[in-house]
Amino acid sequence: MRDAAEVTLVIDGCAIATVDATGAEYSDGHIVVRGNRIEAVGAGRAPETPGAVRIDGRGCLLTPGLINTHHHLYQWVTRGLAPDATLFEWLTTLYPIWAGIDADATRIAATGGLASLARSGCTTTTDHHYVFPRDAGDLLTAEIDAAAQVGLRFHPCRGSMDLGAGAGGLPPDSVIESLDDILTASAEAVSRHHDDSFDSMLRIALAPCSPFSVTADLLRESAALARELGVRLHTHVAETLDEQEYCLETHGVTPAAYLEQLGWIGPDVWWAHAIHLDDTAIATMARSGTGAAHCPTSNGRLGAGIARTADLLAAGVAVGLGVDGAASNEASSLIEEPRNALLFARQRGGPQSLSVRTALDMATMGGARILGRATEIGSLEPGKLADLALWNLSTPAHAGIDDPVTALILGAAPPLAALVVNGRIVVRHGEIQTIDEAAVGRDVARAQAALIAKAG
Ligand SMILES: [Zn+2]
Repeated sequence: MRDAAEVTLVIDGCAIATVDATGAEYSDGHIVVRGNRIEAVGAGRAPETPGAVRIDGRGCLLTPGLINTHHHLYQWVTRGLAPDATLFEWLTTLYPIWAGIDADATRIAATGGLASLARSGCTTTTDHHYVFPRDAGDLLTAEIDAAAQVGLRFHPCRGSMDLGAGAGGLPPDSVIESLDDILTASAEAVSRHHDDSFDSMLRIALAPCSPFSVTADLLRESAALARELGVRLHTHVAETLDEQEYCLETHGVTPAAYLEQLGWIGPDVWWAHAIHLDDTAIATMARSGTGAAHCPTSNGRLGAGIARTADLLAAGVAVGLGVDGAASNEASSLIEEPRNALLFARQRGGPQSLSVRTALDMATMGGARILGRATEIGSLEPGKLADLALWNLSTPAHAGIDDPVTALILGAAPPLAALVVNGRIVVRHGEIQTIDEAAVGRDVARAQAALIAKAG
């Protein structure tokens, strides 16, 4: 059926960074999209294609759409709180507010967060939702509906917490669930929503929250269930030294060693943050194929530490980038992450430790690798899905920067001339085509005020 589809979109006149295995780039190139797939990409003008939508890419840089590997979309309605706190202080401030979320607040928050991602070049995003207050409604479906409406490719993780303060965990007992309820809901999420196809717009992962908010039983059982169902595993690991201290005191091992003991390593697992790692943990990640979602802006906001990104990459670990939840990254702008990853890595290891092109690779192919979609997305190659970001570099802020990839990574965040997801134009001339952003903004303000009032 696909071969019968007409060429639907042509972009030419632009610089192109394909991020393919050879690093192919064109100073003046074209891309041809047929249906939801890339048909051709190369140098010079595109062939004549009657009937196709044609975008004049002059003054722009075309890259693969960016891939966001860690987020908590519901936090879009709880931004700006505890702005100077450590992770544990911040969490204990926010848990009681999060206890008030329901399906409506989750849908509104997700729409706001997804809009920010779309405007910052993101075509595929994960979400890690782990707060499921009793009687709050179907929160997972609420965010899935939001992603379908905005039009992004979506990998929501059915998160969970089962270790409340009463049993030695960090979260209050009001926001945790029982192990049985979590496993039932996780299996149901996969059977209802998970689509394994090449073109999939929706895949589920299982994601107990963190070593200090879940039991060992939940980690073990979730891993077994995910492997039985053929879905991926995600959790927070080694984000702060407080977490390391907690694991050493409670389990006698580091967070990374604890996760390894419970079977939480492998090519089907990606860890969020992975900051405080020793050489053994990095070697274990590399050997097992465990991926890392690096979230530099959130790590900076919480003063959590600087990940050993260059060491992870040198060891062969797949590293993607993430904005993390909006309550610890109020902008949640994905194009800021490759720049911050580069700056953070260079603060650790000097100017040679991470190049602008490696930063772009992490934001695209790195994400595709850790989500298990390296053959489908992450680079501009014939046969791959048409997820594209066309960055306008002809603004006064960018004109004259010597190299377009350097302008994208080190210059001001550029506006998008277009964002294409699965062959569909989602952003054009900097404006999201699928939703009314002003109305979403009003909804977000209303939901935020209601949530704060509810928490008293
Ligand atoms: Zn997180």
